[in-house]
Amino acid sequence: MDRLLAIKIGSNVLTRSDGRLDITRLSALVDQISDLRREGYKVIVITSGAVASGRSEIKVDHELDDVSQRQLFSSVGQARLMHNYYQFFREQGFNCGQILTTKDNFTDETSYLNQKNCMKVMLDAGIIPIVNENDTVAIHELMFTDNDELASLIAVMMGVDTLIILSNVDGVFTGDPADPASRLIREIDPADDSILEYIGEKKSTNGRGGMKTKFSVARKIASQGIEVVIANGKRDDILTDILHGNGDVPYSRFKTKR
Ligand code: GLU
Repeated sequence: MDRLLAIKIGSNVLTRSDGRLDITRLSALVDQISDLRREGYKVIVITSGAVASGRSEIKVDHELDDVSQRQLFSSVGQARLMHNYYQFFREQGFNCGQILTTKDNFTDETSYLNQKNCMKVMLDAGIIPIVNENDTVAIHELMFTDNDELASLIAVMMGVDTLIILSNVDGVFTGDPADPASRLIREIDPADDSILEYIGEKKSTNGRGGMKTKFSVARKIASQGIEVVIANGKRDDILTDILHGNGDVPYSRFKTKR
């Protein structure tokens, strides 16, 4: 088997309720991805959490504007994040490498082809690409909407079979996920507009995303033939449960036209 997966890990998955980096969760996700690698899957990881993990690490004794804070926290947080991915993958016998990118790398043809080739070279050599936005230079109009948009661009660029978006909710619900009357929608037809009425505006507490952008990128790329799954990265064994077809595990899957 040589199925290519893109797995997007959101800031909320990697952050504890007090804002600190959840190293235990990160390690558990690395263990699952390593299991999938051993089963023959190829994997690209798109990870958020740089800003959140830098913010919880450093204290600044002077006023900083939003842009400067983001630059400072991400510079420290990205190093910290990568250090953890690198160590945990190494313990599992795998190598990973870092790719930091910006929106203009998807519009400039030379940059696009260079980054595509880099990821291909890594995958062919058995290295797991760990991708994030280069938050130190991506400011305002140069920014992706959020890492869900980045993950979808990577998924299309690399022609993955499946994109799994991990956040801290089980998937797309028929209302507020916190409301017990809401029901998880397990299978979504990307052409079905009626689901739009259910999608809340609520934004992520630690990242920039929310269900609205997740839903819109998911349906867009599902209509291009890539299977998309939205699931809860805080659930133990979520990745292996999804890919091993454990029927009880909750998630939303977007049907493809294939
Ligand atoms: N690139 C940002 C980070 O690593 C996250 C962007 C997002 O939340 O989607 O902190």
